[in-house]
Amino acid sequence: AGGKRCRRLDPALSRSVLGGAEAVLFDCDGVLWRGEAAVPGAAEALSRLEARAGKRLCYVTNNSSRTRQAYTEKLGRLGFPPAAARQVFGSAYCAARYLRQALPPGAAAYVLGGAALSAELRQAGVPHLGTGPPAASAAAACPEPLLAPAAWGARAPLDPDVRAVLVGYDEHFSYGKLCLALRYLLSGGDRDPDRCLLVGTNRDHRLPLEGGSAVPGTGCLVKAVETAAEREAFIIGKPSRYMFDCVVSEFDIDPARAIMVGDRLDTDILMGNTCGLTTILTLTGVSTLEEVKGHLESDCPARRNLVPDYYVDSIADLLPALED
Ligand code: PLP
Ligand code: CA
Repeated sequence: AGGKRCRRLDPALSRSVLGGAEAVLFDCDGVLWRGEAAVPGAAEALSRLEARAGKRLCYVTNNSSRTRQAYTEKLGRLGFPPAAARQVFGSAYCAARYLRQALPPGAAAYVLGGAALSAELRQAGVPHLGTGPPAASAAAACPEPLLAPAAWGARAPLDPDVRAVLVGYDEHFSYGKLCLALRYLLSGGDRDPDRCLLVGTNRDHRLPLEGGSAVPGTGCLVKAVETAAEREAFIIGKPSRYMFDCVVSEFDIDPARAIMVGDRLDTDILMGNTCGLTTILTLTGVSTLEEVKGHLESDCPARRNLVPDYYVDSIADLLPALED
């Protein structure tokens, strides 16, 4: 099943693959840049895709710590073609959009996350609380927090309007916040166990750093809340289809004429394959050809969905196919 073979995208093949596409969706970190450094040649490749080849460009990122606006600024700062906020689909924006549709009127969300998540929720008109440092500063002051349950949020009053817990990238994640999240998730009791939705921005396990090191990704925080609540979160980011649904609902994109370019097999490539897009793996980020080989040789059908149609060493490899 599935003819995905991860062929190298040479210039001749690039011409025919790009020729059939109307839209190209780019993952950001590991594809366009690494941290604050643009991938060499990436900005020029995107300029040509847009200006010469007339492709519609969209940016699709699991990072919930930046707003759409912050991404347009970063694209500009690193020399990419000017982008409008509406071309950017970050998991913070998409989560806010999801909650606006899923929550009853007037309902609020308890949020494990930072300023970007708060800004996107505000723009979407979703009332929310919880972002930033934990409110109960007592936690830090108390030498024996186990003896002072209030410090972990166990006795903080619950807001009766909260009907969702949203878990995103939260540098201030704490036991107290976890306690409060669980109390909201249990607030419907046995009679209405689904009263409070559980939503996660993404499941990335790790954020790799240069030199083989890494920091824990948002997936760790989502797992913590799921474990406590004994239920599964609805996930906004890749590989969830929801993120592509957001793109399609705002731009009239035919998946059969769209390309997803990413550096991760288990997020970018899996979402692209699941949604019927042509998929291109770029080797400037997380996943390697060795991993692809493992999936190709596996008998497990689910692993076949992790194999991209094509790969490039870098998206700069698209440049020769985009000359006049
Ligand atoms: N989540 C966070 C908090 C990040 O900082 C990053 C990358 O920097 C990601 C997720 C992965 O982002 P992307 O989907 O653009 O690779
Ligand atoms: Ca990436």
